[in-house]
Amino acid sequence: MPELPEVEALTAFLRKNAVGSAVTRVDLAAVQAIKTFDPPLSALGGLELTGVARHGKFLDLDVSGLHLVVHLARAGWLHWRTGLPSAPPKPGKGPLAVRVHLDDGNGFDLTEQGTRKGLAIHVVRSPAEVPGIARLGPDALAVDRDTFLALMAGRSGQLKGALTDQTLLAGIGNAYSDEILHAARLSPFKMADRLSDDEALRLYDAMRATLTGALERQVGQRAATMKGEKRSGLQVHARTGLPCPVCGDAVREVSFADTSLQYCPTCQTGGKPLADRRLSKLLR
Ligand SMILES: [Zn+2]
Repeated sequence: MPELPEVEALTAFLRKNAVGSAVTRVDLAAVQAIKTFDPPLSALGGLELTGVARHGKFLDLDVSGLHLVVHLARAGWLHWRTGLPSAPPKPGKGPLAVRVHLDDGNGFDLTEQGTRKGLAIHVVRSPAEVPGIARLGPDALAVDRDTFLALMAGRSGQLKGALTDQTLLAGIGNAYSDEILHAARLSPFKMADRLSDDEALRLYDAMRATLTGALERQVGQRAATMKGEKRSGLQVHARTGLPCPVCGDAVREVSFADTSLQYCPTCQTGGKPLADRRLSKLLR
């Protein structure tokens, strides 16, 4: 799932390659991806792309005052295309959701792999009209230390849930929360409001270092290679059973109904494996 560093890098890529071009046409291939109907997608045709912004994990294309806002969800991506075919795509076939044509002959596809569709596209007059954006907490890359400490102190819940709650802090998802907690040497199940001052500061510093490090690796990459770059920088996320790069212990996993987290017991939980509720249910 694209998170803050990937969406920020896409934003930078589009600023460089697409801003200043006019949108000639938008093809809709997956009807369920469009969440708004007024203004219609066709209203973007003929207007200049004047800016690109990021709100948490949302990508916001300013098309002369109308906003094409995209949430890439779990398996969505933006593919930059040079020399797009002019024939409209066949609807409902393959991963293509929306194709945006620009007046220089280039453009981009918004795609989504898999059968669980979560990609969401909004055409609005202001990004704040998108409910997910209106509810966002402060941006994880912009939040200052004191605000972050106050947010954690006021949160009664586990760190994993706190870091990924977009209304508390915007931009962090499943992958980077695993990475941040590993860098901070904190258990994903530790309660946010029980952090010592030292632990909370460690968490803040780890969040900044993890996100800025990922961003530096991603910016300048072509949109097509960004996801590979994300994977190569990960220490524990999606690395179950592989050695922790810091201590060599095997990375462990906790599974939930539709997601999982990874962590290093030696670095994060004093060597103790965390209870995996799904696994213990199966063994009972
Ligand atoms: Zn470790």
